[in-house]
Amino acid sequence: MGNIFDESGVWRFRELLPFFGDGSGTDYRDILVSLDGAEGKTKPVHMRFVAEYVGLEPDKLSIQSEGANPTNSFKDNGVASGTTHAKMVGTNIVVCASTGNTSSSVAAYAANEGIRAVVLIGDGKIAAGKLAQTIEYGAKVIQLQGCDFDDAMKAVVKLPGMYLLNSLNPFRLEGQKTIVYRALEGLDWQPPDFIVYPGGNLGNCSAAGKALVELHELGLIKKMPRLVVVNAAGANTLDVLVNEKGLSWNGGNVDRATIQNHYEYLEREGIKAKTKASAIEILRPVNLDKALRALEATDGIVTSVTDQEMMDAKAIIGRNGFGCEPASAATVAGIKKLVAKGSIDREATVVGILTGHQLKDPDATVAYHRDPRNQFANTPILSTVDNLADVLRL
Ligand SMILES: *Cc1c(COP(=O)(O)O)cnc(C)c1O
Repeated sequence: MGNIFDESGVWRFRELLPFFGDGSGTDYRDILVSLDGAEGKTKPVHMRFVAEYVGLEPDKLSIQSEGANPTNSFKDNGVASGTTHAKMVGTNIVVCASTGNTSSSVAAYAANEGIRAVVLIGDGKIAAGKLAQTIEYGAKVIQLQGCDFDDAMKAVVKLPGMYLLNSLNPFRLEGQKTIVYRALEGLDWQPPDFIVYPGGNLGNCSAAGKALVELHELGLIKKMPRLVVVNAAGANTLDVLVNEKGLSWNGGNVDRATIQNHYEYLEREGIKAKTKASAIEILRPVNLDKALRALEATDGIVTSVTDQEMMDAKAIIGRNGFGCEPASAATVAGIKKLVAKGSIDREATVVGILTGHQLKDPDATVAYHRDPRNQFANTPILSTVDNLADVLRL
């Protein structure tokens, strides 16, 4: 039998995630958690129609679909490493707040390890595919009445005696560094000019920043790609703070007052996150500082896109025979916007990360295509059997 840790797209990079030992010898096999080597089997590919849509050269845009993970989102990269640490400290119960993908992943990895899982979700804020996975994998699911994700996140960090598997947990981010490793590997370790992520709780872009800084320090890459983080317009805290308020990492002296003022303003006005991209429907990102650091280290860019821009981009990704959930399409919509603005050069090499699978949120997809006013709608046609020839113009 092969070594599943050499198959896993996370653990084959274990020497670069050394929180459990140095990955040599065979001891690591007793420690590491994996869904039988299945996580992280992703790589960047070219998508012709997407390149045309965003205005880049077809061979210079690569898209990496992290929806191809075992529970269909990038979260598996980090939950494999986070659950490893949970096991190392002898946990028998793990917990997370989730918009649905963390919960799917945590439920599956915990089940496979015989660990109990508890999940807090907001009221009516979870896509069908995500809820289906989470309950089938046996997690205890608690829907918090009258709460959104930000409220659930606040509640979960106060729960005693359970191991927290949100991206606040640094061991989660270790595994998520491998998304960048695989992207670079797919480009023969020639760093692209830009790597683009949707931004929600900002763990993923933080992990990417850490991965890039470390590779650069190790001399494994000579050039630093620029990170791009794309918010949804209805959940645009990072965009506002960076682009309107001038917030930055500032060598570690992040201006707390600017953040506090913004959060107080949201509170005062009763503003809640609102977007069809439920995975990034977050206004108080817990990894804000780490993301600011990643942006500073990589000369990063932040932008935001509307739900319409996202859903149109999602339809184009579909036309390539690939698919993704709404939040993931923020990546492509963001690239299009930045190319149009000239912030991304038309000659640039770009890697875009798609974070979750199309079937996570089938309702969003069907709603888009059923509405013929949408630019790329492929609306099902109503016909009788007798009318088929007419309808098909045979
Ligand atoms: C979790 C998630 C995000 C947001 O990632 P963060 O690390 O929280 O910024 C984006 N898209 C999908 C599909 C997700 O599941």
